[in-house]
Amino acid sequence: MDILISGAGMAGLSAALDLSARGHRVTLVERASHFRVNGSPIDIRGDAIGIAERMGVLERIREQRVDTTELIQFVDADGETVARPTLADVGDSPDDLEIAREDLAHILIDALPSDVEIRFRDSVDSLVDDGGGVDVGFASGHSARFDLVVGADGQHSAVRGLVFGPEGDFARPLGFYVALTDLPGEVRPERMNPMYNFPGHLAGIARYKDRAFGVLMFRSDPLDYDHHDLDAQRKLIVEAFADTPAWKVPQLLDAVRVDPELYFDSASQIHMPTWHRGRVVLVGDAAHCATGLSGRGTSLAFTGAYFLAEELDRADGDHVAAFERYEARQRPYVEFAQHSVGAGAELVVPATWEAIAARNERLRAANGV
Ligand SMILES: Cc1cc2nc3c(=O)[nH]c(=O)nc-3n(C[C@H](O)[C@H](O)[C@H](O)COP(=O)(O)OP(=O)(O)OC[C@H]3O[C@@H](n4cnc5c(N)ncnc54)[C@H](O)[C@@H]3O)c2cc1C
Repeated sequence: MDILISGAGMAGLSAALDLSARGHRVTLVERASHFRVNGSPIDIRGDAIGIAERMGVLERIREQRVDTTELIQFVDADGETVARPTLADVGDSPDDLEIAREDLAHILIDALPSDVEIRFRDSVDSLVDDGGGVDVGFASGHSARFDLVVGADGQHSAVRGLVFGPEGDFARPLGFYVALTDLPGEVRPERMNPMYNFPGHLAGIARYKDRAFGVLMFRSDPLDYDHHDLDAQRKLIVEAFADTPAWKVPQLLDAVRVDPELYFDSASQIHMPTWHRGRVVLVGDAAHCATGLSGRGTSLAFTGAYFLAEELDRADGDHVAAFERYEARQRPYVEFAQHSVGAGAELVVPATWEAIAARNERLRAANGV
């Protein structure tokens, strides 16, 4: 079949790999001008590890794994360690594979067969599904007809907006925002990853391999801004932290001001009653964002893309049956991941000084310092 995938993140790349491996002709359209490979290291967990093996990428993932999460320590304004979470405290397990997002993206990109057509700087503008195929109009003015369209365009999916309705119908904000910024000048001999809290805020530095990045998180009601306007996002982050010269906050804000690949988004889940309509189907965050706090977004992208490709194969042309079976297999993983974030915000962005002290006390009692 001719299949269009919108979005070349983890879900789109996995779907391109899995669908092309089964003989489909795949076109991948990505709004950015390049693969957006930046971000913090991410986890591959549970059944997604077996899926990575079947995708043929597990060995390379194992070779490049890192241990960023294990090295987190909470510090005070002077940089002194006040508490240390264990892997279990942050919901991780030693069996998880943690890998830099850029390394994982490059592994998937390298594995793509050369006949996958990749179009950057474009996105889906219109979709007309007449039952026999989908006529797609692109922002570039180009148009084409596909047998199926896969929306893998993330939390703010354009395909979801066109086919299923506005984001507000499906988004459940968890009440805080996350920014990740590259810290090119940050080199330190020690390997610990310090995180500093003040009420409703977290500022941290994490290192992996020869790189470092800054993390800024803050509690907030939903903010109204353009997701494509980087300067507007920079302004929101700087405003949220500007009154706090403590610890390394000013250094992190300087990085936010200049990073061309700054990542900023609300921690919001996407809950939908169904992920398919006609010949259009959603995978990854577009369908079921669980937020970074779940630590399972990439694992869900892997399982979903793989189940979709496998069920399309089994259904022998009956895409409706395939979509239904994909959804039935993927739902339990999504429900588990989305329910698992419950206490995460209390751990990483406690709302008050009292809550920060209580968190530290609890961790010290359990883990020492
Ligand atoms: C730059 C970036 C950095 C990230 N960093 C982290 C991180 O550090 N930690 C973490 O937990 N999660 C991070 N995430 C989210 C994480 O990658 C996802 O939760 C998870 O991997 C599921 O992936 P996804 O492919 O469904 O969504 P995403 O990874 O969000 O990928 C969606 C892709 O679709 C593209 N896109 C968006 N709109 C359109 C459109 N209209 N047309 C075409 N393409 C479009 C985006 O540019 C992106 O490449 C990051 C996402 C991005 C985009």
